[in-house]
Amino acid sequence: MKNIYLIGIGLIGGSFAIDIKKHFPESIIHGISRKEATLEEALSLNLIDKKATLDDLENADVVIISIPVDATVKMLPTILDKISDSSLVIDAGSTKEAICKVIENHPKRRNFLACHPIAGTENSGPSAAIPDLYVGKTNIICEVEKTTFKLQEKALQLFTAIGMRIRYMDPVAHDKHIAYVSHLSHISSFMLGKTVLEKERNERDIFDMAGSGFASTVRLAKSSPAMWTPIFEQNKDNIIETLEKYINNLQHFKELMEEKKFDEIYNEMENTNYIKQILNGIK
Ligand code: NAP
Repeated sequence: MKNIYLIGIGLIGGSFAIDIKKHFPESIIHGISRKEATLEEALSLNLIDKKATLDDLENADVVIISIPVDATVKMLPTILDKISDSSLVIDAGSTKEAICKVIENHPKRRNFLACHPIAGTENSGPSAAIPDLYVGKTNIICEVEKTTFKLQEKALQLFTAIGMRIRYMDPVAHDKHIAYVSHLSHISSFMLGKTVLEKERNERDIFDMAGSGFASTVRLAKSSPAMWTPIFEQNKDNIIETLEKYINNLQHFKELMEEKKFDEIYNEMENTNYIKQILNGIK
């Protein structure tokens, strides 16, 4: 695990860099990014040791791709073209079906492992990278059987060292479930933020009146549109299904309010308190 090439050095790639350096101090982290300024920032933050380009990938032991999912779909075939036969390529994209599909017949398909680390914050770019982001977090691996056994072992060695738990799933099921637990939460937060901004144009008022409930619910609305738009595009059908269910629930809640059925509103909330048990189980 000597030469690690990061394609994308934002929150996800940069946080991998910090933890890999900690657990594999002999490794050399090479950074590849679209913008020179991003590479310079990653160097100055010591996230990477060296700048690199796609043409250097033949020297890679491990390649970690952490760029928006539409860019991953475009670049992944070229990345696999350029690596050596013994390299491992891992992606971290938040959708999995389109990414797995684009290389299903690639001659180096067995060098690729499709992953989604369920870890993150609302911040982006190299300065958002933090140590221990992945400790205790789940990494969802898709189509593991399509990756060479030796390279699976290499990936597991890396993920285990940085403290991740592993779950295996097929890409279609991944995209369906993640629409509910991640993509819908982001849309809900963006639209809550929008609703409040439209009503409370004076940001000072929001700042003075917003309690921690508002801040925590709207936190995800600070997330990067450049990262999220391609995710919503790739998972459109599943997300529309979750939105229909969510909008029905909001509509029902509104009707209960209009009909002054506060006993039913109480019951709705009490039933949903079950989420505490689920989330306590996750912690
Ligand atoms: P980020 O902090 O915004 O970093 C994105 C990186 O991708 C930057 O290095 C950027 O480099 C590069 N990039 C942006 N647009 C690109 C394009 N069109 N082509 C090539 N490179 C491009 O994003 P992130 O949060 O690390 O997310 C990276 C990946 O991880 C995404 O696939 C996302 O779905 C996934 N993921 C995110 C989270 C999360 O909570 N944030 C969690 C799990 C998985 P330049 O500045 O040089 O353009």
